[in-house]
Amino acid sequence: MKSWTSRPVPRVPGTMPAIRLFDTAAGREVALENEGRPSMYVCGITPYDATHMGHAASYVAFDLLNRAWRDAGLDVAYVQNVTDVDDPLLERATATGVDWRDLATGQIELFQADMEALNVLPPDHYVGAVESIALIVPEVERLVELGLAYTVQGTNGEPDGDVYYDVEAAGKQSVAPDAWTLGSISGLTESEMLELFAERGGDPGRAGKRQALDPLLWRVEREGEPSWPGGGLGAGRPGWHIECTVIAQKYLPAPFTVQGGGSDLIFPHHEMGAGHAYSLAGVPLARHYAHAGMVGLDGEKMSKSKGNLVLVSKLRAAGEDPAAIRLAILAHHYRSDWSWTDEGFEAAKATIATWRRALGHAPEGSAGPLVAEMRAALSTDLDAPAAVASVTRWAEQANADGGPASPSDQALVKNAVDALLGILI
Ligand code: ZN
Repeated sequence: MKSWTSRPVPRVPGTMPAIRLFDTAAGREVALENEGRPSMYVCGITPYDATHMGHAASYVAFDLLNRAWRDAGLDVAYVQNVTDVDDPLLERATATGVDWRDLATGQIELFQADMEALNVLPPDHYVGAVESIALIVPEVERLVELGLAYTVQGTNGEPDGDVYYDVEAAGKQSVAPDAWTLGSISGLTESEMLELFAERGGDPGRAGKRQALDPLLWRVEREGEPSWPGGGLGAGRPGWHIECTVIAQKYLPAPFTVQGGGSDLIFPHHEMGAGHAYSLAGVPLARHYAHAGMVGLDGEKMSKSKGNLVLVSKLRAAGEDPAAIRLAILAHHYRSDWSWTDEGFEAAKATIATWRRALGHAPEGSAGPLVAEMRAALSTDLDAPAAVASVTRWAEQANADGGPASPSDQALVKNAVDALLGILI
């Protein structure tokens, strides 16, 4: 599938120090390996709803990592999927009387326009679930052959043949130190997992499963639902976790460097994806797992059901500056849970104005130390708020001095704010 395009990233003299990132699975900040080619997979949207601030914040967070790696002179391999067929998409299409394909296409376009406006660098491969089904089927078949997946008999009018991953069998397949067992990524207890599994699309009560937490790999055809050829599995469509696993394994090295997503993806999505990958390849899916916090509105959880979604596309349509939206996001550390507020957005707009005014007074020799401070902040678990505070301090000083701008300092600050923070001033 076609990705969006982005502005070229300016080169900034000097280089990013070694990058440290909080790894959810390790439970601590780690130094990222300084490999030749870092690789990243960030889970994409299910395109049934416009990009709200929570999605935007998550993609902006991993964009900081992408930019930090590039600033370190590394060539990043980046893949993102789009779950263009899944239950929530089909449910929304039915509820609104729209063809599910049209709903997906429209929302993918809106998402990409939002990403472009927010200056989020595009992935090298933007891959849909539907276009990947032919790759996913043989992998599910292999899991069945390996004895790590099984079919379930239908009850209550359900057809026979849905395929589930056997988490217990998979957890026993190897005793290697890096082998996956249930909980390796999330570190959750079984009761915590059960609660989240039910909340996040799992079906703990499905009759015939060996373990309540076994996730769906293949859903056989139902009347009124789209389906694709499934070889020995029968016609149907794939589960969400195997979708990401197979796409990541196809386009990235094994293991790749970082899997990213919102913290609501830690379990079951990233947990199960890591399991599937280990079962299929005998090596971990990713070296590190990183997660962005959740964004609320005025202190409340943002959700469609509450009708309090802040949409990037709506702000754009209202003529708001996407750079100010991005700065309002970067004012919060990516791992923190925070709330979008009008005050926060107004503050971001005022800050951008201060920065832009200061370019006209950039003092001679001031840019180099500022860039070093920004790099130090961003290399420390992507501390954008600290980098933003550095720019603001610099800008306030420059404005207070009010002298003429040094052209080279002016250009360096402008380029560094663009290259490292993705903000055009
Ligand atoms: Zn995913």
